[in-house]
Amino acid sequence: MDCLFCKIAAGEIPARKLYEDDQVVAFHDIAPQAPVHFLVIPKKHVRTLTDLTEDDKALVGHIAYTAQRLAMAQGCDEGFRVVMNCNEQGGQTVYHIHMHVLGQRQMHWPPG
Ligand code: 5GP
Ligand code: ZN
Repeated sequence: MDCLFCKIAAGEIPARKLYEDDQVVAFHDIAPQAPVHFLVIPKKHVRTLTDLTEDDKALVGHIAYTAQRLAMAQGCDEGFRVVMNCNEQGGQTVYHIHMHVLGQRQMHWPPG
């Protein structure tokens, strides 16, 4: 499948990986928007959030759990932000679901 994040998960395209297990991979974003900015993706290809099925619910929990564990390990104990962009108006550019984790600077709300 011609998917950038499937290729990163498979090790076919290099990335600065932070963590990997049987279900997920985490790696630093190539264009960081904060001092800490990494992505947590499932190894399973899911195109966007609205493609999730009932069977994927535990997987998304595992992604969120991994995100917070790694955020804390990256020193984000004063807080951090997680973002999942869905489809065009949500600002999604890579169509393999991913949770952004941003930290080590003050975040503001609302985003643009
Ligand atoms: P989206 O806009 O889909 O929510 O986020 C996609 C993210 O993937 C962007 O923050 C972008 O910088 C990141 N990205 C795109 N291509 C690559 C790549 O080849 N390597 C890494 N590490 N990140 C990438
Ligand atoms: Zn994929």
